[in-house]
Amino acid sequence: MTLRVFNTLGMRKEEFVPLREGEVRIYVCGPTVYDFIHIGNARAFVVADVVRRYLEYRGFKVTLVCNITDVDDKIIRKAQETNLSIQQISEMYSDAYFEDIAALNVKKPDINPRATQHISDMIIAIQRLIEKGYAYEVDGDVYFDVSKFKDYGKLSGNKMEALEAGARIEVNPKKRNPADFALWKARKDGEPGWHSPWGWGRPGWHIECSTMAMKYLGETLDIHMGGKDLIFPHHENEIAQAEALTDKPFVRYWLHNEWLTVNGQKMSKSLGNFITVRDALKMYGPQVLRFFLISAHYRSPLDFNSESIEAAKANVEKILSAVERLLSMAEKDERGLEEETLLSQVREAKKKFNEAMDDDFNTPLAIAAVFEIIKAINTYVSQNNAIERSTKREVYETIKTLVEDVLGIKIRFKVGESAERQVAIVKGLMDLILEVRQEMRRRKEWKISDEIRDRLQRMGFIIEDTPKETRWRFKETI
Ligand code: AMP
Ligand code: ZN
Repeated sequence: MTLRVFNTLGMRKEEFVPLREGEVRIYVCGPTVYDFIHIGNARAFVVADVVRRYLEYRGFKVTLVCNITDVDDKIIRKAQETNLSIQQISEMYSDAYFEDIAALNVKKPDINPRATQHISDMIIAIQRLIEKGYAYEVDGDVYFDVSKFKDYGKLSGNKMEALEAGARIEVNPKKRNPADFALWKARKDGEPGWHSPWGWGRPGWHIECSTMAMKYLGETLDIHMGGKDLIFPHHENEIAQAEALTDKPFVRYWLHNEWLTVNGQKMSKSLGNFITVRDALKMYGPQVLRFFLISAHYRSPLDFNSESIEAAKANVEKILSAVERLLSMAEKDERGLEEETLLSQVREAKKKFNEAMDDDFNTPLAIAAVFEIIKAINTYVSQNNAIERSTKREVYETIKTLVEDVLGIKIRFKVGESAERQVAIVKGLMDLILEVRQEMRRRKEWKISDEIRDRLQRMGFIIEDTPKETRWRFKETI
């Protein structure tokens, strides 16, 4: 089976072949840390995490780098507004970002480089671009000369003429060509700055990412990801900078996620229609939120509304309760026809899951395959009262691998986290207490056995002694 991915560079699905056999090197554009991340941002990080998890499941050794943009106009503005330092702002919100993505069960990237810790690498890259004739300095600013890079526009499909016309609206007399972009910005009053051959200043956003990506992943990466707003100018400019420097392809596969929308509009800070991951976690919990974020294919829009979130909630509950029902089933030694049927349904569904994910990480189809397993479990549980041990293990391991390891939705909880699980524990304890009480009754210890019954009744259980056994149930269920 081959894995096919949709490459924005070329706009078509291609077979995925990493540069080095068995290894995949991924760069994901990380957050600009000036505020809490919203669930639209989270979509980009969760999508990248599912790609990473699936590649690992397929046996690749994955290295994932996700940067922190910790110097930027928005951070500078926030620091001015709050009277905090730029460093305080960026630390506060990068800590919050790490907490949020961990809560969403996003695996920690292998490296999280911060832009401000790589300024000297960026200065060296800019110097080389000047030496190679791709960049020029004007009054302490350095610009990339797009007319020198013949492939400019190959990712976004933007034509030079259109770009020049568009960029002319915002006239900057320092630029040779209106479409040129800043590699280095001379320091203005109140802004942070670093010493450079061109005076005090700070790097442009695009050079941050291409420099850090190549530093940690080599001159040619396998996959570069981000939301589709980054295709132009950010990623187009990253390609220009990197390929002008190395004369090698910068990235083999470019993957971009579609928007998370609200009433069809992009969720964004500027439109004010956003909900932070923190708030969403409080309202829906991590499993439901993550399930919702992967419920659409990453290249399709995903609308956030009460129905879509309710559907995610219902689906997560269906998965969890089927797993609980499977796990609390009594075990037996012999495998019968029912087990054979269950196993073949589960194996068939797993194949479909793999095929869906191999087709450009089609999570909605993969989830549909998971529900075939859920259905098979429910049918088995309702028609049988015990399950052969190794069948139970295989079914559980399959669902755990697909749902928890690949999709990142946790299916088991610690005591206290799942109502279903708590009920299972109470049932086990009740059976134990009543067995002990039965033994007391056999020994004619009436006083203590009556005392146990009375106390259990006061706690809300109905206890019925019959000549053969003692039955119990919850009072609310009468
Ligand atoms: P930012 O911190 O704004 O650079 O965003 C971090 C990541 O979130 C980028 O990959 C963006 O493209 C992505 N992103 C921002 N808004 C949305 C949205 N509404 N839906 C999906 N991805 C988004
Ligand atoms: Zn980037």
